[in-house]
Amino acid sequence: MSKKYYYITTPLYYVNDKPHIGHAYTTIAADILARHKKAKDVEIFFQTGTDEHGSNIEKIAREKNAQPKKWADLISEEFKRMWKRLNINYDNFIRTTDKEHERKVQEIFENMIKNGDIYLGTYEGLYCLPCENFFDESELSDGNCPIHGKKVEKVSEESYFFKLSKYEDKLLQHYKNNPDFLSPSYRALEIINFAKSGLRDISVSRTKVSWGIPLLSNPKHTVYVWFDALLNYITGAGYGNRTPGKTDFNEIWPADVHFVGKEIYRFHAVIWPAMLMSLGLPLPKKVFAHGWWTFNGERMSKTRGNVINPEDIAKEYGADALRYFIFREVPFGQDGDFSSKSLQRRYNSDLANDLGNLFSRVLNMVNKYLEYEFPAKPENAAIFEKFTAMTPELDSKIENMQFSEALDKIWQAISILNKEIDFKKPWEMAKKNPEQLKPFLFDLIWCLRLIADWIYPFMPDTSTKMQIQLGIGKTDAPGIEIQKSLQLFPRKL
Ligand SMILES: [Zn+2]
Repeated sequence: MSKKYYYITTPLYYVNDKPHIGHAYTTIAADILARHKKAKDVEIFFQTGTDEHGSNIEKIAREKNAQPKKWADLISEEFKRMWKRLNINYDNFIRTTDKEHERKVQEIFENMIKNGDIYLGTYEGLYCLPCENFFDESELSDGNCPIHGKKVEKVSEESYFFKLSKYEDKLLQHYKNNPDFLSPSYRALEIINFAKSGLRDISVSRTKVSWGIPLLSNPKHTVYVWFDALLNYITGAGYGNRTPGKTDFNEIWPADVHFVGKEIYRFHAVIWPAMLMSLGLPLPKKVFAHGWWTFNGERMSKTRGNVINPEDIAKEYGADALRYFIFREVPFGQDGDFSSKSLQRRYNSDLANDLGNLFSRVLNMVNKYLEYEFPAKPENAAIFEKFTAMTPELDSKIENMQFSEALDKIWQAISILNKEIDFKKPWEMAKKNPEQLKPFLFDLIWCLRLIADWIYPFMPDTSTKMQIQLGIGKTDAPGIEIQKSLQLFPRKL
């Protein structure tokens, strides 16, 4: 039996600009799932990276007086730095300018010419430069690009085409047989209808774009940037390796989840699986498309100057608070609105008050009444037992990407503990029924240990801080130094 990694991907981010909240959203989601699985001893391969070719990058680099590769180097470093800052634990960072990737894309392209799925023709269409994408008349909004709101250009050129039309029935069959493939389910219909409306062959090469991967058999063409970028999911996983390396394709592919934003769902749910069919490869298990963030009800855009830099939020509130907020505030999959007010409110109420206070209250009581004695085994721990029974439900929520629902559940548990303390009043117990005090505090400690486990995928730093203070891994408690004044989340005014 060969082993199989659980393979999670983010899209490759386009290096036209620095990372923003949208990139962070997808990448943190992937990290949450990866950490959750790892904590369950599942072996993970988590890949992210940057998409670096295309005329748009060439143009931006020119404006900055830089070579496109230099520009791409700079921005891809920004992404790596951001992922470090936000505690993202990826296994592989792939860049489409990696020599290995470029070689493999060239070979794949030639193989598809040979198998008849790619042929030479002429393309005429409406093109949005920032998108690097052609649009149908019907897809435009007021005659402009539906993503950028900018004017599209009529473009005509010699181009290679991929026979997407050939895969229409096969795709529809696949959607039908694999209801999890298109996720969340409420986004499936849009893709199915799109495929049913008749798929046309797509242009997959450019003669006007020099910053791209040249075709081996016709070097005046470069590979269309989307075709190039999508292939990262297999090239980064070891497909086409010439020598055995640390990544064995058969142990990684197929991907278990591709996380994408809804604006690139079609590429991943229609074009990408058709490309895989052409290569005779199994399809990913799931393509999950999430929604968009607005800012105070408005679309974020550079021109409006309201693009949120995750770094700023991490600086002010900490990476964990950001990770918490964006996955608690909005059900993952749907659109959401970001506002500094709601961030601050959730930080103060959910994190500083509910969790932070609970934690410091319990630690203070451990200090005062137990002299840091930590319970080795949960005994007569009624609440803990009740909470333990919730774990399978939480696991399945995370595995179904219902991140906000998982967090809701965890915060319900936190609220139960706060209420129990208010109701049972351990400080009075200490005077009136001291024999009840210790079991109650032990129960609370075990519950908090469990909560530290539960929040780990979402807030790894906070979870670790809690675990250390709660003596996890150390049953001979006196060795632990408790920071009496440790505040997980200092209030923000
Ligand atoms: Zn556009």
